[in-house]
Amino acid sequence: MTPSPRETLVFIVSGPSGSGKSTLVEKLVELPEMLLSISCTTRPPRPSERPGEWYNFLSEAEFLRKIEAGEFLEHARVFGREYYGTPRSELDRARAAGKDLVLEIDVQGARQVKQKLPTAIGIFILPPSRAELERRLRARSQDSEDEIELRLERARQEMAAYGEYKYAVVNDDLAAATVRIQAIAVAERSRIGPSGARIEGILSSFKGAI
Ligand code: 5GP
Repeated sequence: MTPSPRETLVFIVSGPSGSGKSTLVEKLVELPEMLLSISCTTRPPRPSERPGEWYNFLSEAEFLRKIEAGEFLEHARVFGREYYGTPRSELDRARAAGKDLVLEIDVQGARQVKQKLPTAIGIFILPPSRAELERRLRARSQDSEDEIELRLERARQEMAAYGEYKYAVVNDDLAAATVRIQAIAVAERSRIGPSGARIEGILSSFKGAI
């Protein structure tokens, strides 16, 4: 018997820059049947970034054309500057592959996704403290002093939205936080709703025997 296609779960991961969000997202997509959504952005690539790996880099004109064409599931101007967006095609890709999708997006984008897909599962990543966040931002030394101050202020604003998410993961210790974020996905996948099609299949295989 061919199993019914399963529902694609959408995991939204947000949190301030320096919370270790991207590392935890990488750990989440290490689970089988997980797909990382590749966002589009107008910000320039950092030296270590290759197009198509984490982002596709677009000009502002290209980005605006895609907004007009309705190609984004969500989009936002993050830090009031550059555009970031999740193409709808990422959701189609996950559905066609029968996989779950992980979106690493900001709070504004998360709100739009939850409006369109109310079953999307929000996970908020928190640093253990403001002092630790500041230490991590400085250790990265990728940003100027002004940029660090801006990121700390943004973090304060973003963290006020954590109550809109279903789960919170405090990234105090990477190994422990990895277990927590993976456990959330495993538990969500084990809920009766999303795994219903599979369970129906198992039950029907018993029909003749009962
Ligand atoms: P960065 O430029 O440091 O990679 O990301 C800056 C911020 O943009 C992060 O908070 C990240 O979560 C957010 N972001 C990345 N991709 C998207 C996206 O597709 N949509 C939205 N709304 N935010 C995004």
